Amino acid sequence: MGIYAERCGFTRAVLFFSHGLDDQLLQRLTASLDSRNIQILRATPVESISFEHTTESFHRSPTNADAIIGFGGGKALDVAKYIAFLSGVPYISVPTSLSNDGFCSPQSSLTVADRRRPLPSAMPFGVILDTGVCLNAPEILWYSGVGDLASKFTAVADWKLAFHAMGTAVDDFAALLSDASVYQFLARPERDIEGMKLLGTALLLNGISMSICGSSRPASGSEHLISHALDRISKRPRLHGLQVGVATYLVSLLHGQNSERIANLFSATGFWRVIARDPFYRAEWLDASRLALSIKSDFYTILSSRDCLPEIADALDSDPHLRQCFRD
Ligand SMILES: [Zn+2]
Repeated sequence: MGIYAERCGFTRAVLFFSHGLDDQLLQRLTASLDSRNIQILRATPVESISFEHTTESFHRSPTNADAIIGFGGGKALDVAKYIAFLSGVPYISVPTSLSNDGFCSPQSSLTVADRRRPLPSAMPFGVILDTGVCLNAPEILWYSGVGDLASKFTAVADWKLAFHAMGTAVDDFAALLSDASVYQFLARPERDIEGMKLLGTALLLNGISMSICGSSRPASGSEHLISHALDRISKRPRLHGLQVGVATYLVSLLHGQNSERIANLFSATGFWRVIARDPFYRAEWLDASRLALSIKSDFYTILSSRDCLPEIADALDSDPHLRQCFRD
């Protein structure tokens, strides 16, 4: 951390870290900055991801920092990224788990009126990812990362569909990069140090593909719309990547593409088993699928192409993988 910060000429940093983060991790990070004489102007634990708290925190934040560091899980990173965006200061993302692609994306997911919303933000200036630290994070976070990564298949399929139906511009390089990043992980979907590197790199390249084309298209399609809708209506919204992963498989059935590949990935990693332990509510998913269409305007996906609800209802009942993911 210190080496990279020094190399970039940073001397004064503001740190936001996850509330409850392992003290030893925090000490390692601050010691590393100290060793290079980088001053930490303020270190703030992040508990709330509400838009109001985040903007208040922005107003209290020292104005003479030359870098803002986000350290920990998704919430701390989202808050730090948004404050860096408002401050116009370079943001360094230091994730301690790989639960989604948010550690390297141009959006922050904050709660507005108690519901999670993606807000425009800036890409990180840098990402420092310690694979050993991520491997020690709770297993469920890794499953969430796997689910979020799988969504790149359907996101790109939706993007191409939008081109044919609406003329939405497709950036082929961003689409290729997004696709390629998934295949590396697919070839070796293991939860070990090497697997963390592959998943981390894949999620990171995906974030970069978003910044290449200036749109969330290579990373987010109809499966994300369903997940965003669930965040709004569900009694108990679940980890982003768990929702997105199941929605990805569901949407792949509508596309008639990549379903087997996704199902095999979820079987190989144990993703299906983890979802089956605590299934989703069928009625909520049907409502979310209906609401998904209205989540983003001017965003054509397979859901806009026809009335998909009867197919979705049928798939939840009859598909052998999906059946185990839902309860009444
Ligand atoms: Zn996502």
